[in-house]
Amino acid sequence: MDLRSIVALVDDEQDGIAACAERGAISHNYNELSDHTFSKDYGKKCRLKSPKKSNGKILTMEMERLTRQEYGFIIAIASGLRSEDPHTQVGAALFERESGRLISSGYNGLSAGTNWVSEFNENRGLKADLIIHAEQNLNFRDPKVEKTLFLTMDPCGSCASLISSPLSNVKEVYSLKEYESDKEKKYQKIFDFYNIKFRRATAKELKNIYAYMNRASVNIDSILSNLT
Ligand SMILES: [Zn+2]
Repeated sequence: MDLRSIVALVDDEQDGIAACAERGAISHNYNELSDHTFSKDYGKKCRLKSPKKSNGKILTMEMERLTRQEYGFIIAIASGLRSEDPHTQVGAALFERESGRLISSGYNGLSAGTNWVSEFNENRGLKADLIIHAEQNLNFRDPKVEKTLFLTMDPCGSCASLISSPLSNVKEVYSLKEYESDKEKKYQKIFDFYNIKFRRATAKELKNIYAYMNRASVNIDSILSNLT
């Protein structure tokens, strides 16, 4: 069963909630809060660190487990955050198609050992000529393994060719948004010709990605509070 009912307390009990969420607790039908929550599906107990009476509101959120696609998009988004390009941050995440295991992640940027120069800020064309795209920074590894690729932006024509190469062996591409500079949508012609499946994120996937990013921020708060 995928459906997770996560009971979130506002204010001082967020730590406990984050810990429960992290362990994947599945909890149903809370009429009142105790110092334990019980997962019927996994038979695990998840202990709230600081069980207290809530002096705030109780929020109940219905959340589903991340799909492979949602997970892939989140890894791609996180990878893009590493880019040094202040104008455009693009992320890519490459997975084994069958197992769903992560193979490589990448982001747009300069080659290792080279530094961003201020000239790029005024001369965007020069930057565009020199910067290495997120897809080009992926390590595609074993050509025999079929792969699934997640991107935060549609690929340019050159990257679509790279993706379509038999050495890359990518069978599916998922993208978050349009590459506005590519009015011709060259990637579509290339992917259609080489029979590579392509689609954008659905509205439901976007909604779930936002929800899980918010949950992740709660988890980060919890981790940091344990360190201090
Ligand atoms: Zn490209």
